Amino acid sequence: MNITKNRFRPLDDELIFEKGKLKNLNPIFKGRVFTVVGIRRTTSRFMPVSHLGFSNESYVDKDTVLGEKRAVFIGRKQKAIERRMHMKILRREFENLYGKSWKDIWKENFTMECEIPNNLCVVCPNCSLFGALRAGEHAWYSKSRYFDTYSIEPASTCIASKESDEGMGLGNQVYESPEEARGAETFFYYEYVKPNTHFPFITMILEPTELDVSGYLIAHSLANKQGFGQYSAVQGKFDSKILGVALGYPKFSVVDMLNWVKEGKEEGKDCYTGIAERLTADVFLCEEENSVFLGENVNTFVGERSTFEKFRSLLTKYKSFLEEKKKE
Ligand SMILES: [Zn+2]
Repeated sequence: MNITKNRFRPLDDELIFEKGKLKNLNPIFKGRVFTVVGIRRTTSRFMPVSHLGFSNESYVDKDTVLGEKRAVFIGRKQKAIERRMHMKILRREFENLYGKSWKDIWKENFTMECEIPNNLCVVCPNCSLFGALRAGEHAWYSKSRYFDTYSIEPASTCIASKESDEGMGLGNQVYESPEEARGAETFFYYEYVKPNTHFPFITMILEPTELDVSGYLIAHSLANKQGFGQYSAVQGKFDSKILGVALGYPKFSVVDMLNWVKEGKEEGKDCYTGIAERLTADVFLCEEENSVFLGENVNTFVGERSTFEKFRSLLTKYKSFLEEKKKE
């Protein structure tokens, strides 16, 4: 699938060098954008909690949308876990490529080590994609844009709560010293979103380089396997189906997608079909033809860009680009 060059941002357009050192990123905005649309489905218990609960109880975020109370999966959480996964694969692949520890690689090429969330370097490929702020020094906007999303299923059926048949989940806090007496305060109750609950999503990457797109697609798929939310080591697992990608802005929102599902359901369609059938070239704002990939074309587009081989080859190009600049 050939994509004309000017739809992806070239590296020499984004990276600013000073005396051979990568110094900053260049915030020129030309309106290039990459959009991914799909549905995440929980494959385990999931606890989307962004507020403080009562001392030993926690409650899933809920909002009423289109007349239905639904579980909420906020954009900030979607971003946080995908960013961490992206950093993990970036460090590992860089280490293989340079044959050094990531800390040395970062110090040599990006002036400092980069750690999420409070010690970001602002210039590495992870900061370029997800944004960074060094107070009083410099900042870079987040090129990746996430949106809050809502469960397709109503809260009354998709959340295990006091009122539901399942009741709330029961957790057990572990004391460090085993001889300590165990009282009722060591237990806590939690609501959770049940497996097989669906969340439509839209993610955009502004001014994307090819490296951004490939890294994002890999991080998205691995983050689903790793888990989102509280106690995420064991919970918050997803699978994800990408239904459309476009090199252009979406003219619709997550709420529109919930509506498409509702309308599709009335015609006996499942949520995947309900949304897929409404995705056409017309719902994206694309300046060029052939900028929207749907159906089989999605699999080809994503398949070609979400392999480690592709990511490695793009990182190799990135590395040679840095080395070339060093010599100038
Ligand atoms: Zn960084």
